[in-house]
Amino acid sequence: MLAALHNPMVKGEALVGYGRVPTPGTDLPRFGNFLPGFPYLISDDVSGRFVPEEAPVKIVVALLSLVLAMPATALDVRIHPGQDGIYQYEVDARRGLSTVLIQNLAILQQDGQPVRLTDVSINLRAGDRVRQVLRFDRADLTTTAGQMAALQKAGVLDLYDFAFQRRQYLGEKTGLASSETVAAGTALIMSSIPLLVSRGVDSMRIVARGTDPEGKLVEASVDIPLLQREQRIEYGFPLRGAWLVAVGPGLSEPHRWALNEEFALDLVRIGASGTTCRRDCTKLADYAGWGADVVAAAGGDVVSTVTDQKETAERLRKPSESSDAFLKRTMAEQQQLLARGAAGVVGNSVVIRHEGGEYSLYAHLAEGSVTVKAGEKVRKGQRIEKLGQTGNSTEPHLHFGIMDGPDPLYARSLPVRFSGLTTMDGPQPPVFVQSGWIVEAR
Ligand SMILES: [Zn+2]
Repeated sequence: MLAALHNPMVKGEALVGYGRVPTPGTDLPRFGNFLPGFPYLISDDVSGRFVPEEAPVKIVVALLSLVLAMPATALDVRIHPGQDGIYQYEVDARRGLSTVLIQNLAILQQDGQPVRLTDVSINLRAGDRVRQVLRFDRADLTTTAGQMAALQKAGVLDLYDFAFQRRQYLGEKTGLASSETVAAGTALIMSSIPLLVSRGVDSMRIVARGTDPEGKLVEASVDIPLLQREQRIEYGFPLRGAWLVAVGPGLSEPHRWALNEEFALDLVRIGASGTTCRRDCTKLADYAGWGADVVAAAGGDVVSTVTDQKETAERLRKPSESSDAFLKRTMAEQQQLLARGAAGVVGNSVVIRHEGGEYSLYAHLAEGSVTVKAGEKVRKGQRIEKLGQTGNSTEPHLHFGIMDGPDPLYARSLPVRFSGLTTMDGPQPPVFVQSGWIVEAR
């Protein structure tokens, strides 16, 4: 699902933490037609801003004593996915930096009087010590609520239901707050909050504060562990030879902003020309990666395949087409594909179940290339298909990801370290790959 399944709340590069997230993808070999991501709709950055560490720590301490004196409140803070823990992705091992993305954060007023929210703060902690604080003030919350209401009105929350999943974690009946005031049975939803965290940070406390109609302080909070994923299965790379990680799990990449493909990869091959395609790049066979063997990343059972999607060169960029026109056309096509559900988006594809309830997804495969069937056992490294151009894809590439369930749209994406890779630094131990890396699978 190349690029395309952007969370619509996201625009451009994310500014997080105390600095700009490294974007290793910027100085790379040129892509052919590959769109490594585009904003699907509108909307301003909602990442809020960081404030100096000291003051909020004092505020938090002061407020904790107030909380004890306050009456019980129906206000609730939830995130989705990851209420019991959210995954970090290591982006710079030497500097000890990882990224975390809160996909959805809801401040829910279950019953009782309306609460006018004053601020929401995210306190990143190493043990008991607060190390970084991200604070959204009332103006931020008002803006965010207005944006979400507009998206709902435009039908975007339903079209992209897999990215918001609000019924799953808020229930069928919960309404959406359209301002910073949450009345009974409504929630203010914040989407896509990026964080750059330093080594040692292992949890976050999210605190929402507001006032009731009498002006009394109301507060709710939740503690969420920030997890380094323990990987029991050793995954190999799903392709052989040298490949460019065109889209990895960096915050500057589109996959990261949708919970079903947060840690997935888009992989392309760079040809002799130094780009992914040759000649005028209008035929599938012009692309260096097209038709390459795709192999199982680990042994397991095939649980589902899609084999009836047609391959076409129609979605490639035409030589006469401006990048704006191509983007516009791609966005329109993405909407049509989304309306057809998972098969429309992933195209020809295979899902394999591995031990411990993990699943691997191989998407956008060539027409007529899938050689395995549901129920079949496959071994690690077995050829299962060929790289192609079906589904939501702007040029031939493999979309690969590990998930916690078999549904490519609704499962949660999981971080994965690959074994058997060589990079420009030489052979690697099991490694998290980054956008822009050229890797060779041994
Ligand atoms: Zn993709």
